[in-house]
Amino acid sequence: MVRTETDQLHRILVVDDNPAIHEDFRKTLAGKKPADRSLLDMESELFGAQGSEPGADTFQVDSVLQGRDGVDRAVRARADGRPYALAFVDGRMPPGMDGIQTIKELWRVCPDIQAVLCTAYADYSWQDIQKTLGTSDNLVILKKPFDTVEVLQLAHALTRKWALDQEIQGRLHKLAYYDTLTDLPNRTLFLDRLEHLLRLSKRYGRAGAVLFLDLDNFKRVNDSLGHGVGDELLKIVSRKMSDCLRSAVTIARLDQPDMAARLGGDEFAVILTDLEGPDSAANVAMRLADHLAKPIDIGAHQVIVTTSIGITLFPQDGNDVATLLRNADLAMYNAKQNGPSAFLFYQESMNVAVQKRMTLEHHLGRAIANNELTLHYQPQINLATGRLVGMEALLRWDNPELGQVSPLELIPIAEENGMILAIGEWVLRRACAQAWDWTQQGLALPRVGVNISLPQLMHAGFLRTIDTILAETGLPPHLLELEVTESMLMSDPDGVAQTLRALKGRGIQVAVDDFGTGYSSLGRLRDLPIDCLKIDRCFVRGISMGQRDESILNAVITMAASMNLRLVAEGVETTGQADFLRTRHCPEVQGYLFSHPLSTDQAEAFLREQCIPSS
Ligand code: C2E
Ligand code: MG
Ligand code: MG
Repeated sequence: MVRTETDQLHRILVVDDNPAIHEDFRKTLAGKKPADRSLLDMESELFGAQGSEPGADTFQVDSVLQGRDGVDRAVRARADGRPYALAFVDGRMPPGMDGIQTIKELWRVCPDIQAVLCTAYADYSWQDIQKTLGTSDNLVILKKPFDTVEVLQLAHALTRKWALDQEIQGRLHKLAYYDTLTDLPNRTLFLDRLEHLLRLSKRYGRAGAVLFLDLDNFKRVNDSLGHGVGDELLKIVSRKMSDCLRSAVTIARLDQPDMAARLGGDEFAVILTDLEGPDSAANVAMRLADHLAKPIDIGAHQVIVTTSIGITLFPQDGNDVATLLRNADLAMYNAKQNGPSAFLFYQESMNVAVQKRMTLEHHLGRAIANNELTLHYQPQINLATGRLVGMEALLRWDNPELGQVSPLELIPIAEENGMILAIGEWVLRRACAQAWDWTQQGLALPRVGVNISLPQLMHAGFLRTIDTILAETGLPPHLLELEVTESMLMSDPDGVAQTLRALKGRGIQVAVDDFGTGYSSLGRLRDLPIDCLKIDRCFVRGISMGQRDESILNAVITMAASMNLRLVAEGVETTGQADFLRTRHCPEVQGYLFSHPLSTDQAEAFLREQCIPSS
């Protein structure tokens, strides 16, 4: 038996206007005896005296009398998923198409079918054949009368060639359209399918959705457990995704089943077709998020990955494939901000926010070079004496196009895109230079506070940058206080502690900013080399409004005193707040009641006022 990889008989089509010849082919190729005597005679006429060898190799042979029927048969066989490998086509088949025309048509519908043109005497010249069919290695010309061996040999050789072609094409197709790690469709196939579905959706109003999935903590798994585990995880996640979808497919949707694809890295996407409405998409998203969030065992490890999902609906959320996918990505990005396993539908406003952010990033990139950054300085006051104890440097950005941009808006963006390193260095240099300049003018500034972001603190060159700036500006280290937020202390406890110790070694002071908002433990605070707590202004705001904030303030004031830490209450706006803090012996304050953040000139004037001439 001659079978393909899929264990099917190779199919051969005979197109010949002489029914007797059909039988001959069948006998030779399918191992069948001709039904009657007259056919046997015909056989000897065609194949010579030797006849056939019944029961030899077997193919599945179909036959038709006319070229047009042959083409129809080939189309149907292909549609059924069982295409013909080879066609024996008679040269002349009046009144229909001749052999050359038939082969041309066959190739049009089945480009890879192998063809044998069976001709008598001088039916065609080589030029005739070439003119219509070109030069193709899918064509063999066989002169009548032919030999059984010839026919068998051709059938073998050509069906094998066809099968090999199919296999190679299959492999190439797999390489081009499937992800080698997970076996899921890749980005190319995904985009092809989406393009097709979007066209259908526009024409017939069939609704669909694209789900964009990103694993929330894949990078951590990959970094900590190694790429082997990472790869395994991606495979398992892919399988889980496919499982989820398969159960969602209904019989009616089988013509365009839902599809999961790996777009690259830990990004996956799903196409849902023939949606009843957004709710169905939300249901699938929820099922995917729940299913994927279950713990996964890989070898000795158990990992939990959660997934953020963004959803776009088509046709309404994008006129083309690229927009649909971009918007789904955008929705995913927004979903990620909402915590693990969240999903969100795309909304127009997301694009507006992104545009705004992109403009901001664009301008921020040039802010230093264009001298758009400045520092304001907010005085810190000793409550008991009313004297200045320090000033906090606060970043200001004034852009000709965007106007004033708050640090609350620009710092998180700069932290995310890495610009914070350059900006932070600029702030440090500027603040240190200014503080030393004032000091040298005889304007006593006990210390200058500079806010530091986590990426700065974690950067390998941070201490070197500080040393360089202090050396360049000449500011004595004890006049510099770096403000780190409470949450930073918790993010990488060992790394942060080491850097803080190095700062302490240089005589630089460290303040914990926004204290009370970051859930740090007292034990941890005790172990860290810090000098000052800046209690967050939300507690100060609560003074005279509620017992709770007041008791927290009391506790923090007592704690700071017992730990020998300085304490600054932030955001003091009213005399009531100041009085409360004074009676509780809070040592230092900062807030609008005493002074707003001041421009350099204003700050200088403030310092001059404070400065009692030593006549
Ligand atoms: P922060 O370090 O806690 O700074 C105090 C913020 O509270 C400042 O806001 C200040 O203007 C404001 N403030 C001071 N007194 C009062 C008051 O009485 N009432 C109210 N409602 N607010 C008051 P600003 O300047 O907008 O800065 C906001 C945050 O941006 C800062 O909070 C800090 O976290 C960050 N930031 C500012 N400059 C820099 C910088 O150079 N580098 C870094 N990494 N972050 C900075
Ligand atoms: Mg601060
Ligand atoms: Mg603060």
